[in-house]
Amino acid sequence: GAADIGVTGLAVMGANLARNFARHGYTVALHNRSRARTDQLVAEHGDEGAFVATETLAELVQSLAVPRRVLIMVKAGAPVDAVIDQLVPLLDEGDIVIDAGNSHYEDTRRREAALAEKGLHFVGVGVSGGEEGALHGPAIMPGGPEKSYEALGPMLEKISAQFEGEPCCAWVGTDGAGHYVKMVHNGIEYADMQVIGEAYDLLRRVGGLEPAEQAEVFTAWNQTDLASYLIEITAEVLAQVDAATGRPLVDVIVDEAGQKGTGRWTAISGLDVGSPVAAIAESVFARSLSSQRAVREAARETLAAGVDEEAQRAPQDTDAFVEDVRQALFASKLVAYAQGMDMLAAAAEEYGWSLDLGTIASLWRDGCIIRADLLDVIMQAFGGRDTSRHPAPGTRAPGQPLNLLFAPEFAQAIAEALPAWRRVVGTAVAAGVPVPVFSSALAYYDGLRADRLPAALVQGQRDYFGAHTYLRVDREGSFHTLWSGDRTEVDGEGVPV
Ligand code: NDP
Repeated sequence: GAADIGVTGLAVMGANLARNFARHGYTVALHNRSRARTDQLVAEHGDEGAFVATETLAELVQSLAVPRRVLIMVKAGAPVDAVIDQLVPLLDEGDIVIDAGNSHYEDTRRREAALAEKGLHFVGVGVSGGEEGALHGPAIMPGGPEKSYEALGPMLEKISAQFEGEPCCAWVGTDGAGHYVKMVHNGIEYADMQVIGEAYDLLRRVGGLEPAEQAEVFTAWNQTDLASYLIEITAEVLAQVDAATGRPLVDVIVDEAGQKGTGRWTAISGLDVGSPVAAIAESVFARSLSSQRAVREAARETLAAGVDEEAQRAPQDTDAFVEDVRQALFASKLVAYAQGMDMLAAAAEEYGWSLDLGTIASLWRDGCIIRADLLDVIMQAFGGRDTSRHPAPGTRAPGQPLNLLFAPEFAQAIAEALPAWRRVVGTAVAAGVPVPVFSSALAYYDGLRADRLPAALVQGQRDYFGAHTYLRVDREGSFHTLWSGDRTEVDGEGVPV
């Protein structure tokens, strides 16, 4: 065989990735469960490069140069296992099976272990950028055995987005690390979209700005440190007028946000690894709440507003309010990124991955949905991009901040945004405009920097009903108060102190 790579699963994502490889000079063998998609791809785009259409997986495998690279781009879940089961008997030791779909990282860990036993490399790859990205250059987050990257990495780096000459692709870590990093990307994406939504809601309901006016605000914001793909498309969505009604399109779209699961996975994993990704979780909950149509309808009839009419009135100085909201948005967004990076560090510890946070941030600078000027700054805060820097499994690379917010430029930026951030959250609360991520991000910030947390009281309660013991600020060891007895204190062994 002579083809450089085989792609099986030629729906929109697989077809576009296959075309991307071919446009970069690779010979691409094509396969799809039902032949029609293969034929359609060759008929419509066969002139874009060298394609080899195949009918069966056996034919696909035969057409490939060794070591064989087979990229699976089928529906996530059971279909991936079905394809793997058919592929494995056809492959030889050293061949590489790539799953570039949105698989759950635990599935990837399981599949990697199973294929490793057969001498095969299984590489779970996170791909972000939607259909357009897949065709023109996505952000690519490959995991799997590091060795496999020698034969696969250069091809992926060719077809990925390029940021100032650097590919938005680098090996991120073993087994499920690639899919994990992609999942966290999506979690951050949820939060990023939600904070933009909260800013829009405030500008509309408190600031009195119509969608068309806001389109101009967001366009202007795109020239600030908020500059990003999501801010850019927000301006376009807000400027769109519905042809049928002449109303702003955003006003005729049903206010229920859908979700396909990666945000939920991120929130669940945050809980699992003990990382407080509250802003990300709140953005998932905000979508869930939006979808509770019947409950919301009943609530509108049943529940009081109790708002401060003063706060609801349009601010005297609209420009100042707009700037306050911009700063609150920026600070909240930074917190969401800080939480995402924190959970990556926690997951590295949990799963024994060697994750370099600087290099990971570098992958998100272009090609993916959260691409933003800010990501270059975040990358710098974690010591820049260095694809050869592999911290010991479960540890941070030396010199990287314990929390993104500690990077001097970000600590400074937040300090400057804080007065506006607090004003905006206060106004939102008084006016009855829900800002779950603005407010949760601020609570996270205040929680991190608090001298004393009420966790001390919680420990007291836990000791009261469950004898869970507590530590003391002034002595070593653990202690318990005899709550149902004479309320004296004993040490961990039950000996009076
Ligand atoms: P779909 O998720 O809609 O999957 C359709 C493809 O899967 C078809 O090729 C179909 O074959 C194949 N398939 C389904 N079941 C089986 C099976 N049991 N055995 C063999 N093949 C099967 O395609 P997309 O292109 O939208 O997405 C592919 C992957 O990429 C998914 O994991 C998705 O989450 C991920 N992804 C998608 C993005 C997007 O923007 N759409 C962005 C990033 C990732 P057939 O034609 O025969 O039915």
